[in-house]
Amino acid sequence: MLVDSHCHIHDVQFFPEDREGVYLRAVQAGVTMLCVGTNEGDSREAVRFVQNRDDAWAVVGVHPHDTKDGWQDIGRLLSEKPSKIVGIGEIGLDYFYNHSPRTAQLQALEEQLQWASDYKLPVSFHVREAYEDFWPVLDNFPDIRGVLHSFTDTQVTLDRALERGLYIGVNGISTFTKDAAQQMMFRQIPLEKMLLETDAPFLTPKPFRGKVNEPAFVKHVAEFHAYERNLSLQEVAKATTANARELFAGL
Ligand SMILES: [Zn+2]
Repeated sequence: MLVDSHCHIHDVQFFPEDREGVYLRAVQAGVTMLCVGTNEGDSREAVRFVQNRDDAWAVVGVHPHDTKDGWQDIGRLLSEKPSKIVGIGEIGLDYFYNHSPRTAQLQALEEQLQWASDYKLPVSFHVREAYEDFWPVLDNFPDIRGVLHSFTDTQVTLDRALERGLYIGVNGISTFTKDAAQQMMFRQIPLEKMLLETDAPFLTPKPFRGKVNEPAFVKHVAEFHAYERNLSLQEVAKATTANARELFAGL
């Protein structure tokens, strides 16, 4: 059994056709998945999508790109206490694209972290080229637990994350990157802190480059790291599934 700790298959924009087929292929492959929201409407869609699907869970929040359009509805959604929300995300800072003003990104991050703290929910973080601003905000919330989703940063940033007890989310990028420093960094992630993800429909792992990504493919991310570490697929599956369950209660 494997956990895809970050996917977007609930999103009709990304999966206009056969969302049920994508879901069933994942279930057949033994994959439990977290459907992660990126804006207010998409978070409500994630909650709806997982309601009657045993192997899917929802994470709700507003992505830094979308903070310019508001995030208050996430607070309302949480207060309605729908079942199957296991985390807040994806939230964070993205200074690579700057699709939303930095002031909005920072304000949204702080407010959503406060909700995560109030509701005692773990967080799926999206941080890109913004760690200098990210750490001070996070350090104001010492009780927050979470995962740095789609982590591709440096060894130094990895060490800072591990010092804070964060989990590290790895996806298809680790299977196809040609960046030697990044390859080395991926090998340094302690297995007891690693979470697997697809970020489907994006970042399709080898050997399916060129295809639309889906949660069933998380097995290829697991196989890659098993090979790199001289472990069996079962060992990587067991450890990363235990990590996901430790972070996201209820899975
Ligand atoms: Zn994502």
